[in-house]
Amino acid sequence: MSTAFRLLPIALTAVLTATPAAFAGNGRGAPPAPPVQPAVQPVTATLSATEAATLLFMREEERVARDVYLQFDTLWAAAPPFAGIAQSEQKHMDAIKTQIDRYGLTDPSDPTLNGVFANTTLQELYDSLILKGEATLLAALNVGALIEEVDIADLEDAIAATENTDLEQVYENLLRGSRNHLRAFVAEIERQGGDAYIAQHLTQEAVNDIVTTPMERGDSRNGGNDMNADGRGAGSQGAGGSRR
Ligand code: MN
Ligand code: MN
Repeated sequence: MSTAFRLLPIALTAVLTATPAAFAGNGRGAPPAPPVQPAVQPVTATLSATEAATLLFMREEERVARDVYLQFDTLWAAAPPFAGIAQSEQKHMDAIKTQIDRYGLTDPSDPTLNGVFANTTLQELYDSLILKGEATLLAALNVGALIEEVDIADLEDAIAATENTDLEQVYENLLRGSRNHLRAFVAEIERQGGDAYIAQHLTQEAVNDIVTTPMERGDSRNGGNDMNADGRGAGSQGAGGSRR
């Protein structure tokens, strides 16, 4: 039933983008249609069942991040960087919701019910992470870093599993945000006197590659434009001087 994932048909696009004048003066009584801007930019692609399932999963995974960080922000008396990153996760959720709407899918759960998820794996993850982060602030910061590592791995898998360029772009933007979040959590862990950060989900090499390169600036669309935990945004050039 691929029709479930179909986007707005082109004919509807023409209607939505037509000027009101096109409807005027064609008979009595019928008022001209108000100008309507299409809420989304229709494209002619469809999603596979797997792509759709991944999109819905990522919607909730981003919300696990948001809801955990909001909880820790309360629990740990507004210790940075939880609140700032929670805001960023809301943008990530919004970017995915835009895609969910474009493809006529249904939100898997009510995003206003913090800490309540449709996916049982994510529900268990949320519950266990909240417990972990209640121990100490340092534990909570490590939970944050773990969430970002998991998010990075899942986004990379999602990108590898689709050829839909719109989804790829959204996931790439979220991935950039996740790398910045990981940098922010690791920096705070080390600032708090924690030992050198030990990778929890990715390889140590992958984590080191991320945390030793500067914050990346995001695209303002699709959930990019991400927080800079320390208020700065560095370029995305990584280590300089590599040109030869
Ligand atoms: Mn995110
Ligand atoms: Mn994140």
